[in-house]
Amino acid sequence: MATPRNRAGSVRAADLRWRSALAVLDEMRREPGVTRAAVARRLGLSTGSATEITSRLRDLALLAENPAAATSRGRPTSVLTPHPDGPVVIAVDLRQEDWRCAVAPLDGKPDVAEAGTHRSRDPEQVIGTVAQAVGRLHRRYGDRVRAICVAIAATVQHGRVVQSAVLGWDAVDLAALTADPRVPLLIGNDATLAGLAEARQGAAAGAATVLHITVEVGVGGTLVVDGRPMHGATGAGGEFGHLPFGDPRLRCPCGARGCWDLVVDGRAIARRLGEPAPRDPRTYAEQALARTPADPAVRAAVAHAARALAGGLAGLINALDPAVVTLGSLAESLRAAAEPEFTAALADGLMRFRRPNPPPVLAAALGRDGALHGAVVTALDHVLTEEGLAAWAALCSSHSPA
Ligand SMILES: [Zn+2]
Repeated sequence: MATPRNRAGSVRAADLRWRSALAVLDEMRREPGVTRAAVARRLGLSTGSATEITSRLRDLALLAENPAAATSRGRPTSVLTPHPDGPVVIAVDLRQEDWRCAVAPLDGKPDVAEAGTHRSRDPEQVIGTVAQAVGRLHRRYGDRVRAICVAIAATVQHGRVVQSAVLGWDAVDLAALTADPRVPLLIGNDATLAGLAEARQGAAAGAATVLHITVEVGVGGTLVVDGRPMHGATGAGGEFGHLPFGDPRLRCPCGARGCWDLVVDGRAIARRLGEPAPRDPRTYAEQALARTPADPAVRAAVAHAARALAGGLAGLINALDPAVVTLGSLAESLRAAAEPEFTAALADGLMRFRRPNPPPVLAAALGRDGALHGAVVTALDHVLTEEGLAAWAALCSSHSPA
């Protein structure tokens, strides 16, 4: 009979085994197609331990091994890939005009399975349509679905949507998006998740402190430190668009005055041109950017928005001290359309000591897929934990013949 002392000892041994298993799975996630020999080298494992761990992970359907192409040097090894019957996550990207659902195995590569355009933005209709798509995927993959993450163009607090100016929603419950209460439903702001993806696997991969800024309708973004977005106390942090970097005479739909949001997007360009506020500021901004080379008045309005963007960005760099800045969507388009004005306003807003060595400001690498990738990253972070692997192992053993 086990004494409390050696029971605790055996728990620790099990934790230790999961820790090395997690490290191997993290390597496969970081570099899909990595060889067992390379993983052993990086983790400082002997060939024997690496073989033992990968064989255990294979038995648990957590990875598959295929012979690697023979090289002239070294022993034969295998390539590690996700198991064809292994765990998956569902990622949903809910945008202003459309939605997508993707499935990703443990290497984090999303495969878009369903997509559609909103026929109306009525929350009940949108959520109902997406819930049906998620339900179909759930039926197809069954118990293999371990987490669902929704990226949404909305402010998220305590894991719930509290407000979306872009979709015209107030507080909305997304609980209908999972039919199975055992499968966790995670919800994140789209710009935050896009920034997370840039920091983990995009333009800023490898940097410890990353500031991501994007413009769609208004400004979104996040600060990612050591691979984690800084959410704040309630999860609603990162609302950079509502810093008072704008015109104090303008009242923002969020309720505050002087928001940065109002001076950098399609609404700002229209106001500058004396045109009525556009119904769809994103499309309006894209059309204005396309007219920029030929029309000096439009170019001046775009340059004005680019300066407002760069000035605010300089303030954020002063405050947050990122190692790398990534610019997503229209933020990068505004810089590209008015690069001299953007660069001058950025330099002008930086504190003097920063000017000789400012952080690089890079174009986001994942484009409009950033939020979807970020949703996959968030869902997999939830699954690839000691508890997540133990739950999967328990499920496997309950399915195998005794
Ligand atoms: Zn605001």
